Amino acid sequence: MENKNNDMKRFDKMHEEMKLTRLIDIPIRLDKSKKKTYKQKRKEKHKVKYLFSGRNHFFEVITPEKKRHEVRLNLSCTCEYMGIKGVATGKICSHILAVMQEIQKTGNIEATYENLIDKKKADCISLVKPSNRELNTVRFSSNETKKHKEKKEEVCKKLKEQGIDFITEAIFTTGGRADVLVLQDFTAVEIMSTEKDESIEEKMKLYPQGIKIKTIKCN
Ligand SMILES: [Zn+2]
Repeated sequence: MENKNNDMKRFDKMHEEMKLTRLIDIPIRLDKSKKKTYKQKRKEKHKVKYLFSGRNHFFEVITPEKKRHEVRLNLSCTCEYMGIKGVATGKICSHILAVMQEIQKTGNIEATYENLIDKKKADCISLVKPSNRELNTVRFSSNETKKHKEKKEEVCKKLKEQGIDFITEAIFTTGGRADVLVLQDFTAVEIMSTEKDESIEEKMKLYPQGIKIKTIKCN
């Protein structure tokens, strides 16, 4: 029975470490845009015919099945060029072109993948006390052991290498302080010194809803 318990503990430990490794080692796919979606492949099979420009720009799009659709664009920019040239001439500025390029990447007008990550990070940062929002700095608390510090440094180093933003000693607006808060994942990485660290369970109770916990042993 005692043996079985030990096995279970070992399994739990392994499992926790595996989860953390996965969190930290998986490179984030920032260039998701390189993989073409069905829509992006499909668009290449359409023929586009310019019709005319007025208040909008009109195009006819012909599908491989010979279906015809009318696409209308209304493009405007606050820059001088667009003010002089106007929409009706069919000329567009580089600013609009840049926007269209962004749309091309994801196939949608809504947030790009990078923007989405930025938004998630901003949401996560808002859970941290304003005075405590120091990004990507390894900070320690006064009662940390040497091993605890070293493990924290190691975790932060891995995150830095992957360009993943974090806050150490992140104090939440609700109270509670996470060892390392990984912003884009809403994940608090807690470094444990003992098999079962009650202090971690206690402080986790204060964390805001939606914060995920990953524990990692430091010895
Ligand atoms: Zn412009």
